[in-house]
Amino acid sequence: MDLQHWLGRAADAVEQWAGTFGPYRPHPSLLVDDDRFAAVFEEFTGRLKDNYPFFHPSYVGQMLKPPHPAAVVGYLAAMLVNPNNHALDGGPATARMEREAVAQLAAMFGYDTHLGHLTTSGTIANLEALFVARELHPGQGVAYSQDAHYTHGRMCRVLGIEGHPVPTDERGRMALDALEELLRTGRVGTVVLTAGTTGLGAVDPVHQALALKERHGVRLHVDAAYGGFFTLLAGASGPEGLPPEPWRAIARCDSVVIDPHKHGLQPYGCGAVLFRDPEVGRFYLHDSPYTYFTSAELHLGEISLECSRAGAAAAALWLTFRLIPPTPAGLGSVLAAGRRAALRWAELITASDALELYQQPELDIVGYFPTVEPATLSAVDTASARVLADGMTGPAPVFLSTLRADREAFAARHPGITADADGARVLRSVLMKPEAEQHVERVHARVEQLAGFRRPT
Ligand SMILES: *Cc1c(COP(=O)(O)O)cnc(C)c1O
Repeated sequence: MDLQHWLGRAADAVEQWAGTFGPYRPHPSLLVDDDRFAAVFEEFTGRLKDNYPFFHPSYVGQMLKPPHPAAVVGYLAAMLVNPNNHALDGGPATARMEREAVAQLAAMFGYDTHLGHLTTSGTIANLEALFVARELHPGQGVAYSQDAHYTHGRMCRVLGIEGHPVPTDERGRMALDALEELLRTGRVGTVVLTAGTTGLGAVDPVHQALALKERHGVRLHVDAAYGGFFTLLAGASGPEGLPPEPWRAIARCDSVVIDPHKHGLQPYGCGAVLFRDPEVGRFYLHDSPYTYFTSAELHLGEISLECSRAGAAAAALWLTFRLIPPTPAGLGSVLAAGRRAALRWAELITASDALELYQQPELDIVGYFPTVEPATLSAVDTASARVLADGMTGPAPVFLSTLRADREAFAARHPGITADADGARVLRSVLMKPEAEQHVERVHARVEQLAGFRRPT
């Protein structure tokens, strides 16, 4: 689709609608003439160049990519109206779009009932899930894996509850025996399972944790902020297929968080939280004198901790989902390409003399490091940092990121490397753009070269 064309059409559509309300003149205090605008715009676009090329196949660093053009057009059109999804009277159209898009997310996870809404981010979505968890298990703490997102520890402090990090295994997944030992103390009311860690995309054994729910009466929350859309690859045929058990088990957990602004092709400002039991809406109830109620149903402002939220975010997601729905054949095929790229790169790294695989990728995130002599953590750290820095300069730039692995995590995966330091940075590449599949060989060759490998001639 031609972005320029559809941006113009979006502006036209809103202008036409606005025209039906009769003419008026903007206030002189708001007028900006084109010459002045041109000068400032020049400066602005100049400053925007100070960015990494997130859109480009040579960018294989953090979890960043531009939104789909459909999301851009949807966002812009709705933003021209600027509805606020805090209540129905803030904009009925985008409030309905939000409900429909959230229902699609619930269906993707297999929730038969749900209460949910969009949030500004995964952080706020997780905060809401932990807030509800605390209301249901007052006086008890929250357990999450050592490799869980740092937000869980931080939000436990915000909520005034105890946070309990649980050790992970040699693939970065929560160790359930350690968890069960902790649960026996009775101090934990809620377990957060991460379906796709931010660092390496490790998937906690959600299905095995279900038994602990029965045995210890704990609540289960799944943080699928990053990995949620990989549900679409659960049990798929092809090499990209994922073991279905943890993903299918999400339907039996109490709440789940997913970030459409990560793998859902959306601009920032789009997270989501879903509860399986709609009854939890009672914890949100407030009696606002500002909002007037046009619906007997709980409206979005009544089931969200945030008040103002961009209706445009809901519009963008709705429009995107109409075109690329969260189904295996829709968005699933986007994620499948990135996953195949990660598997291919892992193969290339395994066969390479210049690089070593940190661990086998579970989703689309590859961890690796330069082969070093002597094989020590400090040498790995120095070499990784050098490849990261050198990669971004020079004629054929490649943009990577690093991840800090501590000494124990390293020893569990690479016992042959001498632990002469507390840990080491390794290289990390998130292959979240489907184009990665076509470019992975080239990117690999460049990284090999940066790591100091000379192809025999
Ligand atoms: C990104 C992420 C978060 C935080 O979400 P934001 O949208 O960045 O606030 C939480 N948990 C996981 C697993 C994540 O990947």
